Amino acid sequence: MGKYSKILELGKRRGFFWPSFEIYGGVSGYYDFGPLGARLKRNIEDLWREFFVERHSEFIVEIETPVIMPQPVFEASGHLEHFTDYMVQCRKCGRIYRADHLIEQHVETSGLEGKSAEELTSIIREAGIKCPECGGELGNVRKFNLLMQTNIGPYKGSIGYGRPEAAQGMFINFKRVYDQMGGRLPLGIAQIGRVMRNEISPRQGLIRVREFTIMELELFYDPKNPSCPLLSEVENRELKIVVASDVEKGRWNPVKFTVREAVERGVIKTEWNAYFMAIAVEFLQALGVPSEMQVFIDKPPAELAHYSAQTFDQLVKLEDFGWVEVSGHAYRTDYDLYAHIKKSGVDLRAFRKFDKPIVKERVKVRLNMSVAGRIFKGKAKMLREELSKMDPEDVMRALESNGWIEVLGEKLDRNLVIVEKTVEKVHGERFIPHVAEPSFGAERLFYVTLEYAYREVDGRIVLSLPKRIAPIKVAVFPLVARDGLPEKAREVYSLLKRSGLEVVYDDTAFIGRLYARADEIGIPIAITIDYDTLKDDTVTLRDRDTWRQVRTPIHKLPSLLREYIEGRRGFEELGTPFSKQG
Ligand code: AMP
Repeated sequence: MGKYSKILELGKRRGFFWPSFEIYGGVSGYYDFGPLGARLKRNIEDLWREFFVERHSEFIVEIETPVIMPQPVFEASGHLEHFTDYMVQCRKCGRIYRADHLIEQHVETSGLEGKSAEELTSIIREAGIKCPECGGELGNVRKFNLLMQTNIGPYKGSIGYGRPEAAQGMFINFKRVYDQMGGRLPLGIAQIGRVMRNEISPRQGLIRVREFTIMELELFYDPKNPSCPLLSEVENRELKIVVASDVEKGRWNPVKFTVREAVERGVIKTEWNAYFMAIAVEFLQALGVPSEMQVFIDKPPAELAHYSAQTFDQLVKLEDFGWVEVSGHAYRTDYDLYAHIKKSGVDLRAFRKFDKPIVKERVKVRLNMSVAGRIFKGKAKMLREELSKMDPEDVMRALESNGWIEVLGEKLDRNLVIVEKTVEKVHGERFIPHVAEPSFGAERLFYVTLEYAYREVDGRIVLSLPKRIAPIKVAVFPLVARDGLPEKAREVYSLLKRSGLEVVYDDTAFIGRLYARADEIGIPIAITIDYDTLKDDTVTLRDRDTWRQVRTPIHKLPSLLREYIEGRRGFEELGTPFSKQG
């Protein structure tokens, strides 16, 4: 059985995740999260929040915007036109496949993302690829838009789409949040929420689903001041990158750069993307993925999304699926804000203050009415209006070169045009910020976390989940379910629950079995109440990963356990070593 199947089996049995709508035969690309899974996923989201939002709370804020968005949003963003994948249908059995995935399964190839439908069709023909299900002839490759369409309200034609990314909610709201935050840049706007992508034929379980939770951050900065003041904090960390020229040649050649080198050599175009890539490595480590199992791919220009000037995909090695993308780091430039300004006509620009106000001379021109009134009578008013609409610089130029300017068929000479020069202080200018975006999918991280935590020891499953995100932190067991031990154990359980820890109580099996169950769902600490507890109020703590035990007084548990979960104290520092007697 492959790793994925093992984890899915555990997920179904113990309540992490399973395919949705099973009683109706299931629909591929949809997954449910169970009691433990929903908690684990929420803990992963909270950890992301901590790394990407809370750590930077002086300039990064979180918002929440709707999942269904009206058509103009995606006309402007380019998703209606560009958010597509290629599909190919079997002429015999009618099954539909994602063309690039099908080709990749049959021929050693790379760089398919940039190819056209015609090119993909020829590859399929030349390689003689047939329908994997029935062996039938495949049709021509066609584009398929991945937006999920719906109708907003009862009126036909009010088309809406499920958002495929949270980003557009942040772009649309940029100006409002920018003003609320005091009109300062850099400004980060983050969002965690559901997105929908009508994937053509998702076959990789939780890795590729049609609805998932995205964790996205748009970092808006002034392109004239693109430096990231936090870069120095991470500049010596290493990033492993497969550069675009190697990706283009299909060469898997990860090169190590320090963050600083990657920026200085121009491998990463923006300091902000580089900074968040370093944080992304640290975040994945916190989920249990060592840095050796992570790599960034610099996407070649032909493979870039329509809005991106550069994108790095962060990949993690998985047993059954190979290297899988867990996050994308895109330099979105001013693409989206520009597009929304153009489409909506609303000014979403930021304001850049000059160090010193600039003094600007302004020229104004107006009709000399006392003269014009006499000459043009009733038409003078129209001439005045028309002249006021003209660019004063053009009027000046015409007067200087010809001695007159033609307005509504009349020649107006210098006597008829009054030129006024004023001096104005200009304090700054408007501009469209640029954007660096890190974007993570929670479902992939959820699966990655489970895979890296999953171990088999002596034929049993141990889920070594990082303590901080384990759905349950502590289990409390009586050594035996009699002689007052359950009552004492319940007291300890209540004490820990009141202290805010996620804790469970169980007395429905022998202690060995209870430990095994706790290990399987990744509970970091199991507490056992035994006969000595009744005498001296001490308990045994057992470490999930090493099965070592220490003895500790009950009253110290709340603070000690919190420090342990938060990583401020090691297991051995929780009490005195304890070995089972008898
Ligand atoms: P993208 O905007 O395509 O770079 O996607 C951002 C992140 O969302 C990716 O790095 C993945 O973690 C995740 N993701 C994208 N598509 C899917 C999908 N179909 N199912 C699950 N996660 C996805």
